Amino acid sequence: MSDLTADRAYELDRKHVFHSWSAQASLDPMVITKAEGSYIWDRYGNRLLDFTSQLVFTNLGHQHPRIVKAIQEQAATLCTVAPAYANSARSEAARLIASHTPGDLNRIFFTNGGADANEHAVRMARLHTGRHKVLSTYRSYHGGTQLAVNLTGDPRRWANDTGSTGTVHFFGPFLYRSAFSATTDEEERERALAHLEQVIALEGPGTIAAIVLESIPGTAGIMIPPPGYLQGVRELCDRHGIMLIADEVMAGFGRAGKWFAIEHAEVVPDLLTFAKGVNSGYVPLGGVAISEAIYQTFADRPYPGGLTYSGHPLACAAAVATIETMQDDRIVEHAAALGTDVFGPALRELAAKHEWIGEVRGTGVFWAIELVSNRETREPLAPYGGTSPQLAAILAASSRRGLLPFANFNRIHLVPPLTITAAEAHEGLDILDQALTEAASASH
Ligand code: PLP
Repeated sequence: MSDLTADRAYELDRKHVFHSWSAQASLDPMVITKAEGSYIWDRYGNRLLDFTSQLVFTNLGHQHPRIVKAIQEQAATLCTVAPAYANSARSEAARLIASHTPGDLNRIFFTNGGADANEHAVRMARLHTGRHKVLSTYRSYHGGTQLAVNLTGDPRRWANDTGSTGTVHFFGPFLYRSAFSATTDEEERERALAHLEQVIALEGPGTIAAIVLESIPGTAGIMIPPPGYLQGVRELCDRHGIMLIADEVMAGFGRAGKWFAIEHAEVVPDLLTFAKGVNSGYVPLGGVAISEAIYQTFADRPYPGGLTYSGHPLACAAAVATIETMQDDRIVEHAAALGTDVFGPALRELAAKHEWIGEVRGTGVFWAIELVSNRETREPLAPYGGTSPQLAAILAASSRRGLLPFANFNRIHLVPPLTITAAEAHEGLDILDQALTEAASASH
């Protein structure tokens, strides 16, 4: 185990670590020295309530004893085997995952995370259909590898666009900033579906292998689709022989108050991708749950793809412990109740109080507040793809008071561990309330 001091860790980080998605020279990463449950500690001894779950993955909180023990026991028994061999951790993880996925998605292909899960889901859909195009939505995030970032519909795609990956973007529903001038959920649903139908017709249905969408888009704003939208997409896919890939990397494994967010719509996709919450991110793991029909495509024909660490025993042992704990402790029910009893009512109260809050939305332990400088015009408090002094002030005031929130452009996302208690959730929401008051009064 490393025994560097926190200051030395910082110094070496700045000297040698090249960080994701960032200009390197100006970085000032927080050194996390300790973490437990819903809290982390920085190198100055400050305790912060982690409303980010890091990158929305520590679903059972930090240092969960059951997961830690499972990893230790697996390491002591069998640290690793290549994907070609069977082992009990991987077999049991696959069985448990399949017991919760919807419909007949009972075959599990393991990856190391979410981006590669999406890459493989698309590859399977392409080989199954013999078609090449893939449709995905603007305002989405599907990962940082080449195809996944091309599927992504946020500014991170701009610098990475190769223009030759067969990806086509369309508008998903988002009533607050409707691309269709809709004013009700029903209008938004109908117009978004009519738009998608037109995109399919103009792209050529016979060229489209798959539609990839987040069941609830996460990083792009936790936008709950209007009732009936996902059923409508399923129907369009069925009509045209297009595979539906549900990206549940962020929304899955209880975050949205169901095992998988797509259950809210009672839709069964052809492929479902997962990562993060599958094992609370303790060891990298992701995967694709595959329908029987797609599985049959590869029953007698080799699947041309794989990864050295696919279904790594340490990661799978962590998944088994995570899923068993979720079952035993009724974590999904707890997450759903936190949404209806704590986050929903408290955030609506905050919205009534703070002029900057244009909208709050979410479900389970998956919430966003959309910040605007003007409620009438809905002018974002920070531009798309950018930030603003007001947002920076809210974040600084939050962390000074002991809250670590997740911010993206003009939004703050509230995505703590699913194991958070109601009292801890209120503690974080109270800090956010104070931070909004302080930042707003400083800007006047
Ligand atoms: N898909 C969604 C919906 C995500 O939120 C993410 C990551 O945030 C990914 C895919 C990419 O996952 P990973 O970073 O594990 O590759």
